[in-house]
Amino acid sequence: TKWVYRFGNGMAEGTRDMRDLLGGKGANLAEMSAIGLPVPPGFTISTAVCTHFYEHDCRFPDGLRQDVAKALAETGSIVGKSFGDPDDPLLVSVRSGARASMPGMMDTVLNLGLNDIAVEAVARASGDARFAYDSYRRFISMYAEVVLGLEHGAFEDILHDCKTRLGRLADTDLRAEDWLAVIAAYKSHVLDVLHRPFPDDPMEQLWGAIGAVFSSWMNERAITYRSLHGIPASWGTAVNVQAMVFGNRGETSATGVAFTRNPSTGENAFFGEYLVNAQGEDVVAGIRTPQPLTATASDPSTMEAVMPDAFRELSAISTRLEQHYRDMQDIEFTVEDGKLWMLQTRSGKRTTHAAVRIAVEMAREGLISRADAVRRIEPASLDQLLHPSIDPAAEKIEVARGLPASPGAACGEIAFSAEEAEVARMAGRDVILVRQETSPEDIKGMLAANGILTRLGGMTSHAAVVARGWGKTCVSGASGLEIDAKAGRMTVGGRVFLRGETITIDGSSGRVYAGKVAMRQPVLSEDFATLMQWADAVRRMKVRANAETPEDARQARAFGAEGIGLCRTEHMFFDEARIASVRAMILADDETGRRAALARLLEMQRSDFQQLFEIMDGLPVTIRLLDPPLHEFLPHGEAEIEALAAAMEMPVERLRARALELGEHNPMLGFRGCRLAIAFPEIAEMQARAVFEGALAAETTTGRPVVPEIMVPLVTTRAEFDVVRGVIDATAETVMAQTGRRIVYQVGTMIELPRAALRAGEIAETAEFFSFGTNDLTQTALGISRDDAGRFLRLYVDKGIYLADPFVTIDQEGIGELVDLAILRARKRRPDIKLGICGEHGGDPASIDFFDQVGLDYVSCSPFRVPAARLAAAQASL
Ligand code: ADP
Ligand code: MG
Ligand code: MG
Repeated sequence: TKWVYRFGNGMAEGTRDMRDLLGGKGANLAEMSAIGLPVPPGFTISTAVCTHFYEHDCRFPDGLRQDVAKALAETGSIVGKSFGDPDDPLLVSVRSGARASMPGMMDTVLNLGLNDIAVEAVARASGDARFAYDSYRRFISMYAEVVLGLEHGAFEDILHDCKTRLGRLADTDLRAEDWLAVIAAYKSHVLDVLHRPFPDDPMEQLWGAIGAVFSSWMNERAITYRSLHGIPASWGTAVNVQAMVFGNRGETSATGVAFTRNPSTGENAFFGEYLVNAQGEDVVAGIRTPQPLTATASDPSTMEAVMPDAFRELSAISTRLEQHYRDMQDIEFTVEDGKLWMLQTRSGKRTTHAAVRIAVEMAREGLISRADAVRRIEPASLDQLLHPSIDPAAEKIEVARGLPASPGAACGEIAFSAEEAEVARMAGRDVILVRQETSPEDIKGMLAANGILTRLGGMTSHAAVVARGWGKTCVSGASGLEIDAKAGRMTVGGRVFLRGETITIDGSSGRVYAGKVAMRQPVLSEDFATLMQWADAVRRMKVRANAETPEDARQARAFGAEGIGLCRTEHMFFDEARIASVRAMILADDETGRRAALARLLEMQRSDFQQLFEIMDGLPVTIRLLDPPLHEFLPHGEAEIEALAAAMEMPVERLRARALELGEHNPMLGFRGCRLAIAFPEIAEMQARAVFEGALAAETTTGRPVVPEIMVPLVTTRAEFDVVRGVIDATAETVMAQTGRRIVYQVGTMIELPRAALRAGEIAETAEFFSFGTNDLTQTALGISRDDAGRFLRLYVDKGIYLADPFVTIDQEGIGELVDLAILRARKRRPDIKLGICGEHGGDPASIDFFDQVGLDYVSCSPFRVPAARLAAAQASL
């Protein structure tokens, strides 16, 4: 087996396509070398060795030592030195490199091969003793830390003490003999701690470092990172051994990093930083402030000004690398005595804003296709563009962490109840609603708040779902909070916050900060619009929005929604002016009482729907009949019951009894959905009438035909659907007779219960469209209550029992099969049936890919997720 792959001197045994075997760093070093760029020679010990190492009790494969010795000799011969040679030693770096860059892996060791004798040889050969000792002290501390596991701080303390004793301020003030003293102190520290001397045999050093890289693959940090990012342990890491080049050889040497385009704005401008007379990590370590590579104004310290030749070469190579990889590159380089060396290249990390600009500009430049540009943007990342975000440069004090439940950032004074939030909002102040958890009664307070913070609940808790729906920031499950709402205070991390104190929450990271943190407002760029156009041009599925308020509907259209896939009429009922009528309707103990309340609601619903149809201007609108358990509308507490009884002119006693009667043990599976319409046909009748009359009114104002789609929720059998459809059809007849106008409409149903999915064929005989309600379908088919899942779902995902939270990403095998089956059966009976999905999954990119495969006509999601859904639908088509 081939374990070792060499590179250098214009050749390489590996290529960029061999990431799996060589790791990202190794594959790109090979590639750069093969295309003739100046790369210090070396070799990569493959990931297969790592795998072997763990399969064989941490032993290296036979023959590896010989292979490494041979590759090392060859590396030496390219640079004219030999490893371990006391007169002119080859020094190397040992660098880890997995397929995906991975924090937690062993850090790089530089200048390996030095000892007390070799350092003198380096001093002689370079004619620069200071440089030799500087390299040696770096090596000792790096090796001691990374390979021998000693604390970094101790070496810093030693260096600090030496500097104080010698009266030197900066590292650069230390002379050769000063470094000698530091070196001696370092070595004696190692001896003190480990009771054995620092290893001075170069071969021992080398194998120590190689072993440390492989061992670090199984350290705790690496394991945690892998499990969080779904990286299998079987991938393994590679080890790169490479001849050193020195950026610390005085004023003609330097080290730096460069980006071929600006990673935060995406601007096509070479960008980076460097440090003269420095090595390796000095640029990022923050010991000295690095200088820019280029500047618009004439800056005497830029690389362009200080090392014009090396700069020109670097800039030419950067262009070439970007052309070669067809992506923005993040580059590491070193200049040794005026000569440029390339040490690393990889696709650069970037903000979403930059990613969009770069993709669009590269497509325009012809470097990539439009399809590539569309493919390159992570749909979920678009969220970053639509919400204000925390300014990364802002100073902040983190006090707690929860789940990133709904992205964006929000700042405001703490309110511990919905009423407090409303009062503060009314007074024009910004509010963060802080609750143990939220429930439908908190809706108005949630609406009034700039952001929502809860102690309990997961990513699909009430707070999270509602907040995402509104595009409002939310952090849920911040378990570190101790909330005493009555006392108007919360304690977190030993700090006390009182009602009215300001906090900032970041729904993109789940962090909570004290005070007001600076933010950046979203601006949708032209590049974003272009990218979305390209996405729309290739997408098959339509994208609609879940919306009921005029603001949401407008927002949805602004984000490119092609209709409303779900208008939840009950959300229109929570308004203060209406809730009383809704309660009166529910609690009335006869039809007459109910009809009186319904008449008031009819007025309001009619204008709601008219407005919605007007805003959507001819685009399809699906309106769902009242769905939630009546239970949710019941009055709470004595005061509310008394007020309501007075308004309804009903004895308090009777009202209380009625409320008790309507209470349910398991409301989600109780008196809700079409069961309401069957028990109280007058509710469905009122809603249907409001829809039809609203549609006719909107046709008059807009001059466009409106074809409302009325949707019956929670159907299990065709017989149920037919009863409700009968009420709707009869209402349409009545309205047509009364107005003398024709109404074109469709009646369809939600498929959200397993039985309905199975019997989709016969339901399709009378239903003109289906919308899959995958939240309830998941809940009922898995037998998992969404509201109680938080406690164990995490565990399930951690243990790999579920690959993902089934309420976030659809369970393709189970729920997906129900969807697939329902589609097949429905299309058989009604080939032109319109099929969509309106659950939370409608905005999830992985689920959208699945919905495209099974052939849905559209997905519907909350307005703020519409752009991501458009992009995900496009990617699904590519
Ligand atoms: P990371 O994966 O953390 O970026 P690297 O292996 O790239 O670690 O190395 C860290 C630093 O050491 C980088 O700045 C790199 O340029 C420098 N470095 C690595 N190998 C060499 C070498 N052979 N000569 C000079 N500098 C090197
Ligand atoms: Mg690097
Ligand atoms: Mg439902």
